[in-house]
Amino acid sequence: VTNVERRAQRLSSAFLTAYRRNAQGVWSAPGRVNLIGEHTDYNDGLVLPVAIDRETLVAAAVRDDDLVRCRSLDLPGGADIRLSDLGPDTAPGWPAYVLGVLWALRETGAELPGLDLLLASDVPVGAGLSSSAALEAAVALCAAELCGATLGRTELAVAARRAENEAVGAPVGIMDQMAALHGRGDCALLLDCRSLQVRPIPLQLDAAGLDLLVINTRVTHAHADGEYASRRQACARAAAALGVSALRDAGLDAVEQRLDGELRRRARHVVTEIERVTHTAEALERHEHDALGPLFASSHASMRDDFQISCPELDLAVESAVRAGAVAARMTGGGFGGCAVAFVPTDLTGAAGAVVRSAFAAQGFSEPDLFLVEPADGARRMM
Ligand code: ADP
Ligand code: MG
Repeated sequence: VTNVERRAQRLSSAFLTAYRRNAQGVWSAPGRVNLIGEHTDYNDGLVLPVAIDRETLVAAAVRDDDLVRCRSLDLPGGADIRLSDLGPDTAPGWPAYVLGVLWALRETGAELPGLDLLLASDVPVGAGLSSSAALEAAVALCAAELCGATLGRTELAVAARRAENEAVGAPVGIMDQMAALHGRGDCALLLDCRSLQVRPIPLQLDAAGLDLLVINTRVTHAHADGEYASRRQACARAAAALGVSALRDAGLDAVEQRLDGELRRRARHVVTEIERVTHTAEALERHEHDALGPLFASSHASMRDDFQISCPELDLAVESAVRAGAVAARMTGGGFGGCAVAFVPTDLTGAAGAVVRSAFAAQGFSEPDLFLVEPADGARRMM
């Protein structure tokens, strides 16, 4: 019995206690760590996330009336609402993610039944590992299966993103939902955010003798807040100034020659970052893990200097991890806190953790949370 199977069983018991009836099933969906390609998804660009072995579980049972109830073992509150009252502005707080997904599924034509839902997650919340998309993907797959809707995984991801955009009000791109639904053990996912094509890229971490280390700075970010939105707006303005529909279509020469100041720096990040995603996927496919170091280093510098979404804790996490022997490290996620990701030779992982921790202590930063992650499959039914 694996750890996640034990968690599914515990959630099933908690469901019985919470709702005084048995769960019909338990579904799970993973968080993700993005290897490279930051703020490129909403520019129609490329990203390279890895679904990880941190998962959100949802236990569920259909009701014979039109009530939807949701609770979480991790956060207080919840919602009790009639299906007929579901809309994009149904609930404040975390239930907006759940009810938003149900609303978005119904918008595709799915005929939802009343449902009892109970969530539990070991994806750290608000750390940039996409606990939000893990929740959305688990609920989307669960609800679709329980009502017999024949939606593909990409369609579920599109509905989940719509929920986050319209019901939660977070203007996120499609990367996280696609990773949570299309994840593949031992693979990263090369995702084209324009065509929504996904190509699994084998990581072969064991053969390479590498661990995938996540350093959570514990500095909190909020996607829904102004910085993320202002980066999106800058990208849209840059694309308009260049006469392209998205920065995916802009060339670096045009960015350098026709844009100035902040807009040039923002666009330069996106255009160069998309190129780095391609090169990273190629390096992984050729099993050339040494090539990742320079690519991750320029990605981090680009996020720090051009896109300006890093922070001192993330810079230190990356710098100290590399000093401790990581072959590649960069900040990951939307920025302004959250996590860094590093490829570390397996025999150095323990020592690297100590180096990073003591670097944080020396700066007077609070202690980071370090953990290894394994590539994992996308959303699935557990029981
Ligand atoms: P991230 O996706 O990086 O973890 P977000 O701010 O996008 O951060 O999403 C976090 C939000 O998702 C939480 O504030 C909460 O509203 C919701 N959420 C995530 N996991 C859970 C959970 N297990 N139970 C209830 N709500 C959750
Ligand atoms: Mg999120």
